[in-house]
Amino acid sequence: MTRTPATSQALFERALRVAPGGVHSPVRAFRGVGGTPRFIREARGCRLTDVDGNTYIDFCMSWGPLPFGHGDPEVHEATRSALSRGWSYGAAETGSLELAELMTSRLPWVEKLRFVNSGTEAVMSALRVARAATGRARVIKFEGCYHGHVDSMLVKAGSGLADMAQPDSAGIAKHVAADTLVAPLDDEARVRELFDAQPGEVAALIIEPLPANYGLLVQRADFLKEIAGIARRHGALVIFDEVISGFRIGFGGMAAQLGIAPDLVTYGKVIGGGFPVGAYGGRAALMDLVAPVGPVYQAGTLSANPVAMAAGLATLRKLDTAPPYAALEASTRSFAAQMTATARAKGFEPFAVQHASSLFWPVLGEMRSAVRTVAAIPGTQRERFAKLFHALLDRGVYLAPSGFEVGFLSTAHGTDDLAQAAAAFGAALETLRAQP
Ligand SMILES: *Cc1c(COP(=O)(O)O)cnc(C)c1O
Repeated sequence: MTRTPATSQALFERALRVAPGGVHSPVRAFRGVGGTPRFIREARGCRLTDVDGNTYIDFCMSWGPLPFGHGDPEVHEATRSALSRGWSYGAAETGSLELAELMTSRLPWVEKLRFVNSGTEAVMSALRVARAATGRARVIKFEGCYHGHVDSMLVKAGSGLADMAQPDSAGIAKHVAADTLVAPLDDEARVRELFDAQPGEVAALIIEPLPANYGLLVQRADFLKEIAGIARRHGALVIFDEVISGFRIGFGGMAAQLGIAPDLVTYGKVIGGGFPVGAYGGRAALMDLVAPVGPVYQAGTLSANPVAMAAGLATLRKLDTAPPYAALEASTRSFAAQMTATARAKGFEPFAVQHASSLFWPVLGEMRSAVRTVAAIPGTQRERFAKLFHALLDRGVYLAPSGFEVGFLSTAHGTDDLAQAAAAFGAALETLRAQP
């Protein structure tokens, strides 16, 4: 059992006085599971150490940017070398050139790209390009897909006849939300209806081709192909938001796996190897709409920061030259199978693990078949996950603190580490069963 988080508790009380919820991104506050967020002192490989000296096997993994785990020596060396030469020039430099050349040479749907500082910025900019390219205002997104906190994407399905979305956050103007239309996942007929109802008005359809921000809602390939076809027939652009899936499920992400070339694509997370980097790209003709060549303005003081570029370049080169994908998929599959078998043996049911490549998501409740939509997520998910989360945390396993977030494996999660995590899972289930 881990030590009581006394130091984390004291720091959290201080943090609550100076930051909303004590954190700088909401889920970190543990509101989805209750309890005290752990303040992390350091991380190496697959392990986090908190300020009270507790060590955890980490499956949150900074929410996805670290395919080689924490403190990878090659990424470390590349950033140290970049840092020794300076850490921001605000001028042309070679790191971004080399990273852009690597990406454009390997991803045929990215002829040109622009680096930004986050996935949110990448999406915001891609949408701007799509609107400029088509001269249309509306965008179709999917319920359960997250595209960062840009106003037009923080929306939920409206109830009105016109299918216009409503803000899903305070502070977003209704008229901004109204240009977004929200469709359920896994329902191509609905997408067809939305397009038919708005002839000539939809600039783009944007989707996470592997939705991984509201559980892991793996989509049917034929659904993705069909909706891309519908969008194109209506003259709308297809935007793949691959901020999680890009370079994570394979170097070419979902676009390569599906054989669908998106018109525009957004990257983040892995592309910076744990530093703040995002990118948007696509065909040269579309990307040349961006300033200074074209009329779409988009800029960034710290964009293509040389240290961040060095981290991204080291990470992507390593992924390209020694692809870890098959091994990661195998270890994730085996870890998921161990958890499922343990749950069955201990009568902890219903329980399933949905997984794809190195991502996994425990489903805690009745499910008739694979969960592909928000509506199909069991109502028991939140409450049952919160208990499981704490039982695991107490035994040195750190999951993302929400039942609607996925877990990530890295190459630093060795067989012994995974066996240890699976044993902790078994022990956690014992205590959950003992609870009234
Ligand atoms: C994380 C994420 C974003 C937002 O990226 P930030 O860097 O957090 O702004 C956008 N889209 C998807 C699919 C993501 O997973």
